[in-house]
Amino acid sequence: MEPEALTHDSLLRLFGERGALLQGHFLLTSGLHSPRYLQCARVLMDPVLATRLGAELAGRLRPLLGGTMVGAVVAPALGGVLVAHEVARALGCRGLFTERQDGTMTLRRGFTLDPGEPVVVVEDVITTGGSTREVMDAVTARGGRVAAAGSLVDRSGGKVDLGVPRRTLLELEVPAYPADACPLCASGSKPEKPGSRAAR
Ligand SMILES: [Zn+2]
Repeated sequence: MEPEALTHDSLLRLFGERGALLQGHFLLTSGLHSPRYLQCARVLMDPVLATRLGAELAGRLRPLLGGTMVGAVVAPALGGVLVAHEVARALGCRGLFTERQDGTMTLRRGFTLDPGEPVVVVEDVITTGGSTREVMDAVTARGGRVAAAGSLVDRSGGKVDLGVPRRTLLELEVPAYPADACPLCASGSKPEKPGSRAAR
């Protein structure tokens, strides 16, 4: 049987089924409250699904590349590592990741880029685009050229402008409220910490 096409609705259902997108009333690490909690690791923990999502994102990125042969896909560790690996598998190139060294995102572990080498930068979730921008800077600092950017999920409502063409699999609104302005608290419910519910 052909796998179902990855539309907005089927991805939303998939993320829900895998416990990657929880609905309820959550206390985020930022201290804000939200009716949704997103944990991409819960879809990426399935290697077959990770490969499929990577192939789908690669398929959406390919038209942006205009036939350019990408040399590497680069993502920020830790959340982006598997995304880079799977998109790279689909594009037939290297999958690399950046890490912080003295506060600056950089390519470590013997990862190198050729001068002018075309690179795609990806991550699991784009919220403000901050970490993607840091990875783009790390790539440029090593002589690479960022041809496009991608993410599994875009929480920015498509608003983030990285100065390069960008694609995502799932545009998702994840509202967040300060505790004293949380409509869920106002309706009498208590927030829970994500991960406090056992799931496997
Ligand atoms: Zn609340």
